[in-house]
Amino acid sequence: MGADIGVTGLAVMGANLARNLARNGFRVALHNRTVAKTDALINSYGSEGEFVRTETLAELVESLERPRRVLIMVKAGGPVDAVIDELTPLLDAGDIIIDAGNSFYEETRRREADLRQKGLHFVGVGVSGGEEGALNGPSIMPGGSQESYQSLGPMLEKIAASYNGEPCCAWVGTDGAGHYVKMVHNGIEYADMQVIGEAYDLMRSLAGIEPAQQAKVFREWNTTDLASYLIEITSEVLEQEDELTGRPLVDVIVDAAGQKGTGRWTAISGLEVGSAVTTIAESVFARSISSQRELRKITRDVFPAGVNQAVSAQEFYGTKESQQDFVEDIRKALYASKLVSYAQGFDMLTAAGAEYGWSLDMRTIASLWRAGCIIRADLLDTIMRAYETEGETPANLLLAPEFTEAISECLPAWRRVVAAAATYGVPAPVFSSSLAYYDSLRADRLPAALTQGLRDYFGAHTYQRIDKPGTFHTRWSEDR
Ligand code: NAP
Repeated sequence: MGADIGVTGLAVMGANLARNLARNGFRVALHNRTVAKTDALINSYGSEGEFVRTETLAELVESLERPRRVLIMVKAGGPVDAVIDELTPLLDAGDIIIDAGNSFYEETRRREADLRQKGLHFVGVGVSGGEEGALNGPSIMPGGSQESYQSLGPMLEKIAASYNGEPCCAWVGTDGAGHYVKMVHNGIEYADMQVIGEAYDLMRSLAGIEPAQQAKVFREWNTTDLASYLIEITSEVLEQEDELTGRPLVDVIVDAAGQKGTGRWTAISGLEVGSAVTTIAESVFARSISSQRELRKITRDVFPAGVNQAVSAQEFYGTKESQQDFVEDIRKALYASKLVSYAQGFDMLTAAGAEYGWSLDMRTIASLWRAGCIIRADLLDTIMRAYETEGETPANLLLAPEFTEAISECLPAWRRVVAAAATYGVPAPVFSSSLAYYDSLRADRLPAALTQGLRDYFGAHTYQRIDKPGTFHTRWSEDR
């Protein structure tokens, strides 16, 4: 009997997915460029299920049932192409290559088109949940042909996380759709973490609430509309003490956030498909600024922080009652900004669906993110409800009744928090940019009219009038 699936690339993610498959009763053929990793996996976890050890890709392919399913979990980029190039001549028409790494969706589209010509199925699969998710049940977002999903879907659904008995795995769309949806998930993840960071910073800088105390606040928030995995683990990170110094661990961690690229791709794609993902992009830039430590140091020397202002802020926000009110204001600002980031994420999914010809089902996508992945949150149920009624899809999630109600409820607090941040000089780029997005969408007139006038002045770019159809140009001065 041949193996049900082959996995090549047995670093942490591939190894854990292979174990997850084996634990769920599938016979898994294993391969890694460096054979020692294959042996290490079999030595440590061989008893968890049925594994087939192979040393070459030819052996891996040889060991599989037909249609063959080969899951690639190697470093994204060139290594994926290298593995595909080696695999392709070994496979037959109808076989399926699965790329479950964090590949860029455009590369997935290119690879899929290329392999389709050769009669092979190529399935780009978004996987979220990190190492732990890969082992115990990630959120899985497969793209590729619907035909390949017939054969692959049941396996993926079995190893995926489940929410109320439903697997967090469903076919999302052709070619690069799976990797695109995963990319947007990661963009939202950037925003989710940034709004949490801004809430923490404001509570600390303006109200003097120390990390251990904030851990309690976040734990309390996790019982509200904000309930989510990231809020839950924030309380754990904040209460962690550094063994070496006894200080809160968060105080000894260098304040420069890393990034691997998916947030940046989301921002770039937003620009490309014409969707204003300002909250997500601002979160990416917030990480970039944090990493410019040398520039930050020089700037701090030139423009010292407003210590006196911070002290007066604490006199104001630090008293018991005002502190409580301020914390509640911050919770609402966080929630409203989070709603905006999800509204933007789904807006860009809609735009990308039109651009790339994917029939993305927003309700299904929201359902996939309810468990297993990093952004899992109660809010996803609210989003599913917003997309529930056929024919009544909101043009933007902010217009769905539950969102509208929540934004209206949070709005005064949101404005107070953004104003306080600006007054006392605490950076809150995502709180303020999200508020600006909301205000831009609801503005009666935007200054874009003046932009058009200027463009017509210097470049004869023309403009349209509000009172009659057509395209107009003005002779702004004698010599123009
Ligand atoms: P990784 O560090 O990204 O990649 C290491 C694996 O790639 C090893 O198996 C390595 O083989 C193989 N590899 C590298 N270059 C190769 C080449 N030219 N030919 C063949 N194999 C090559 O591993 P990872 O952290 O497990 O991540 C795998 C994928 O999952 C990535 O796309 C990553 O972005 C994505 N992902 C990761 C996470 C996470 O939490 N880590 C979460 C979701 C998705 P050797 O052992 O021979 O060097």
